[in-house]
Amino acid sequence: MSETLIRAEMDLDAIVGAIASVVGNAPRPVPLHEPQFSGKEWIYVKQCLDDGWVSSAGPFVERFEQQLAARCGTSAAVAAVNGTAALHLALHLVGVRPNDEVLVPTLTFVATVNAVTYCGAVPHFVDSEIASLGIDADALERYLRRIVDIENGVAINKKTGRVVSACVPVHVFGHPANMEGLADICDKLNIALIEDATEALGSLYRGRPCGGLSRIGVLSFNGNKIVTTGGGGAVVTNDKDLAARAKHLSTTAKLAHPWAFLHDETGWNYRLPNINAALGVAQLEQLDKFLAAKRRLAARYAEAFHAVPGMRFVKESADTMSNYWLNAIVLDDDSGAARDEVLQATRAAGFLTRPAWNPMHTLPMFAAAPRADTTVAESIQRSLVNLPSSAILGLAG
Ligand SMILES: *Cc1c(COP(=O)(O)O)cnc(C)c1O
Repeated sequence: MSETLIRAEMDLDAIVGAIASVVGNAPRPVPLHEPQFSGKEWIYVKQCLDDGWVSSAGPFVERFEQQLAARCGTSAAVAAVNGTAALHLALHLVGVRPNDEVLVPTLTFVATVNAVTYCGAVPHFVDSEIASLGIDADALERYLRRIVDIENGVAINKKTGRVVSACVPVHVFGHPANMEGLADICDKLNIALIEDATEALGSLYRGRPCGGLSRIGVLSFNGNKIVTTGGGGAVVTNDKDLAARAKHLSTTAKLAHPWAFLHDETGWNYRLPNINAALGVAQLEQLDKFLAAKRRLAARYAEAFHAVPGMRFVKESADTMSNYWLNAIVLDDDSGAARDEVLQATRAAGFLTRPAWNPMHTLPMFAAAPRADTTVAESIQRSLVNLPSSAILGLAG
C-alpha cells in the first residue's frame, strides 16, 4: 500500500472548527501571542519614574536577575537589552572566536544564527527531530563522527579546517530539546553547549528548568514571549566567573571607580534598563499563572484536534514539561501547499496562525554555510502551523 493511501485526508473545516471551539468568543482577529499586564506592572514602572532610576542601574535589575536565577535553578542571571545580545554574549563567553563554526538548527528564529555571525563565526546547520522539534542528537552524533577530528582536544571540521567550538540547541516553541543526548556528544567532542531557551522560560526537562541545563543559557523577554520586559533578555549560569564576565562585558567593560572612566577591553552596552526590569519583575510574579493558563489552553487544543484527520497536535515529549509558548499542529501532507491552505482558511476565519520560520540555510546570508542533511527540519517547516497561544485564551473557564 502506498503511503498516500493510508494517510487521512486533511479537513480544513474541521481544523478551523477545532480552533474556534478552543478560543470561544475571544475577540477576532485572535492574535498569535499577545502579552498580558494584569499584575503590578503599573506600580513598578511608576516607581522607576518617581525614583528617577530608569536606566541601566537600579534596584529592579537586581531583583529581576535574582528571580530569573531562581526560576532557572542557576546561581546567577545577567539581564541584557534583548535575547539576541544575550546570545552574542553567551557565545563570546564560552570562547566562540572569529572563523570558528557553531552548530545551530536550521529550524530556528534568525536571531540564533545572527548572534553566531556577530562573533565572526560561521553557522553550521543541523537537522531537527519530530518529537521535540529541536536538534536531533542521534543524527548529530553520526554526522559529527563523520566530519569532525579531535586535534589537541579541539573539534576540527575535516572539510573546512575550522574549529567547531559550540552548539546552540533551541527549545522550539517552548518544547525542551534532547539536552542529555546533546550533552553526551558535545562533552565527548569538547564542544560548548549553549541553550537558546528564549522560548522556554518555565519549561522543564527531566524536572529541571530550561536555561539551567547547560553551562550557559539564554532567555528573551521580547513582547511576544511568555513574559515580557518590552524588549529584554538574559544569560543564566551556574558559573560565577562567567556571570561576572557577562556583567562586565555588557556594561562596556567598565571597571568600578568613584569617578574615573576605566575600560579594560572592548565591551558592549548590553545591560537591561531598570524600567524594563520593573516590567519584568511584575511579569515574573505572574509566570506560574501564565504557565497554568498556557498548559490548560494546550490541553484544550489537544482534545479539540484529537479526532481531526490529516494532522497531529504537537505535544510535549516524554520526560519534559513544556510551557507551550506557541501551540502547533503538523500536517501529514508536507508539500507546503496544504499548510498554506490551512494558513489561509484559519486567518480568513480570524485566527492569526503562522508558519514556522523558513529554514535558515535557505536565507541569502547563510546559503553558503556548511550543513548536515536537514530533511526532517525542512519537512516540519513545510507542514507546521502555529496556533493562537496567548495566556489569556487559557485563563477563562
Ligand atoms: C525570541 C528569540 C530570540 C531572540 O530574542 P530577542 O529578545 O527578540 O532578541 C532568539 N532565538 C529564538 C529562538 C527566539 O525565539
